[in-house]
Amino acid sequence: MLKIGVLSLQGGVAEHLEVLNQIPDVFPLSVKKKEDFVDLDGLILPGGESTTLGKLLTIFDLKDTIIDLAKRGLPIWGTCAGMILLAKEIDGEDSHLNLMDISVKRNGYGNQLASFKTMKLIPKISDAEIPLVFIRAPYINQVTNDVEVLLELDNKIVAVEQDNLLATSFHPELAEDLRVHEYFINKVRKSIEDSLKMAK
Ligand code: GLN
Repeated sequence: MLKIGVLSLQGGVAEHLEVLNQIPDVFPLSVKKKEDFVDLDGLILPGGESTTLGKLLTIFDLKDTIIDLAKRGLPIWGTCAGMILLAKEIDGEDSHLNLMDISVKRNGYGNQLASFKTMKLIPKISDAEIPLVFIRAPYINQVTNDVEVLLELDNKIVAVEQDNLLATSFHPELAEDLRVHEYFINKVRKSIEDSLKMAK
């Protein structure tokens, strides 16, 4: 079983757990205390409110734990506010975990009314269109170094990958579609295979 943690300080935790529960061989768990992070195979940082999440990460003293796991190659996926947590740059604000070479603009599509759903093809993830749900979503202004852009929507970057890190502006956990979660789980499987090869 793959142990996939969902950071459960605030935000869309239950929705991620529910989707993960539908994928075979995955054991999803909420993670909140330092000891919960031991032995994880992958970690999801959910959507919510990034300023609140950032403060809670400090209060629960989890920043260094997550940064250390990321640097050791743990696959981590941030959705929406989770993507903001991963970014090295946030337009007009200090960064939180400072892990991904992306510069993000919060609430880039305007206010709550600017929330929307669309269908798009993300070739690296699936060969058929995927439903994408945006809620007060950030977008990515700029990527540097080896960040791979997985999807642009109206000239705005909304999905990226950099080594073990994945980030999406949208919420696959609200789209009633398993494909982005399955993509992340495959990334976790590959990461385990690669570390086994390295150990030989
Ligand atoms: N607007 C939120 C923020 O900036 C993110 C929204 C979300 O996660 N759905 O933190």
